[in-house]
Amino acid sequence: MTKWLTLVVTIVAAALLGVWSVRPPAPLPASAAADRFSAERAMADVRIIARAPHPTGSAENAAVHAHLVRRLEALGFSVRTVDAPLPPKSRDRLREWGSPVADTAMARTIVALRPGQDPVSPLVAVMAHYDSVWGSPGAADDAAGVAAALEVARAIPQASQRRDLALILTDAEELGLVGARAFFADGIAGDPLATRVGVLVNMETRGGGGRAAMFETGPGNGALMQLFAANVADPAANSLAVKIYELLPNSTDFTPAKLRGIPGVNFAFIGDAGLYHSPLATPEALDRGALQHLGAQGLDITRALLTAPALPERAPDTVFSDVLGTIIIAYPAWVGWLVLVAAAALAGVAVRGRGWRWREIVAGVADGVAFALATAVLAYGVNMLSGADRKSNYYDRLAALPRLEWQVLLLMAAALALTLAMAGRWRSLHGNWLGLFGLNFTLAIAVQAVLPAGAPVLAWPLLVAALGMALHARLGAVAPALAAVFGIAFAGNLAHFVMLGIGPGMPAAVAVFAPLLLMLLWPLLPPVPRRTALLAALVCIVLAAGLALWVRLDPLAPSVAVYSLKNGY
Ligand SMILES: [Zn+2]
Repeated sequence: MTKWLTLVVTIVAAALLGVWSVRPPAPLPASAAADRFSAERAMADVRIIARAPHPTGSAENAAVHAHLVRRLEALGFSVRTVDAPLPPKSRDRLREWGSPVADTAMARTIVALRPGQDPVSPLVAVMAHYDSVWGSPGAADDAAGVAAALEVARAIPQASQRRDLALILTDAEELGLVGARAFFADGIAGDPLATRVGVLVNMETRGGGGRAAMFETGPGNGALMQLFAANVADPAANSLAVKIYELLPNSTDFTPAKLRGIPGVNFAFIGDAGLYHSPLATPEALDRGALQHLGAQGLDITRALLTAPALPERAPDTVFSDVLGTIIIAYPAWVGWLVLVAAAALAGVAVRGRGWRWREIVAGVADGVAFALATAVLAYGVNMLSGADRKSNYYDRLAALPRLEWQVLLLMAAALALTLAMAGRWRSLHGNWLGLFGLNFTLAIAVQAVLPAGAPVLAWPLLVAALGMALHARLGAVAPALAAVFGIAFAGNLAHFVMLGIGPGMPAAVAVFAPLLLMLLWPLLPPVPRRTALLAALVCIVLAAGLALWVRLDPLAPSVAVYSLKNGY
């Protein structure tokens, strides 16, 4: 009974810690200190910008433009507007949207400059786009980013600026990054100010809530990320996410700057994904906590960049991750090998003289592989049942994400129960654990060798699990239980963002966490009768299939982008 109690308490604690770690901070009120970022202050701009849909070329877009120019001038900026013609593809999209000005509209990017003490050295630029798609008020995308940029500029007194601050509020981002592409175009085609941009902070959204992650950097981020780690309180950033994003076809205004070799950081929140480009993305629906988190991180890094004696030099890419949203740990790629050596040494201490047998190790490896395969197969199959097998509305799939996450969670539980039901009779605490450790360790070595930026995802829980197991003899089950609470919350936090990022199409990706989960839980698992395990697996699969059918058969979500109903985006 105590074993069951320990297991349940561990899982509940891990779940609470994981949920806590993915929740945005509380929004600060309008009465917050002047040097702090206040979401409530920023909301005043969000309400004006997102009063109505304001796509490029529309009268609403012109009204937003006029408001932003006034606001920037009041904040001490000299402001100009850079007009760029729309390429044919962008005009086609405006036409699809039914815009009456598709032939004459221009991308009207606002370029604002506020000088610091040194007018010559490279400047710091903060960027967001003020256009919305057709049919969405765009309170998140990207009124939140624009309002955050203004609140960041307000919170930094001009007298404290060691170098110049530029605000680049682009237009026609939704039509193919037109404003940003024109500003950052190479040579004389681009804006003269672009040559002075030393570092760029971009703020975006793809949804209406959740924590804002720093998901993209420019080239050579080593020193920049050290500055980020030292100055951004309450951070969300992971070098694996940066690498995964590089592999995705997505782009933001940051892309043209990055192509030009400009360093920087790119933030976005992607929770409440159903609000992406949605007619329901109103100021009232916007998650104030998400706005707070986006702006507070933007302020911390912008202030650090504006006041540092020198901008960070280009340095080899670093490996980094936040630890459950508390602090960032960043180190050069080679340090990852030391983490793995430490984990192996602790694992050695844990199993030394424990009388394990080779067949138990083999059984541990087999269980880990079986759990991962079962998770992947079930997640893939049930996701097809949920509608991924046919051409479905992308925005409807985004709206279904909370259900798709529960679906994957249930299937992972089912896969675990199936693995335990099918496991052979070669069981021992240390033998099977060593097998599971070996499996995860092998994966971690492969990741460290091929993609060191992704290594913390496995290496950190591995280190903690080995520490917990090494202390097991002295402290009892509480040591591996604490390790499991941290490891599961850490992996769960990442799995949540994996689901938000690629969940509707590829939920099976979470299977990479399966061997890790089993290793963390192994010291705590009581023996389960085979029939009980099979029954539990069956119940979980039936529930997940029920959710999948609900997602498949329910009517189109009212949140889907209006234009997605006209054509097949
Ligand atoms: Zn956007």
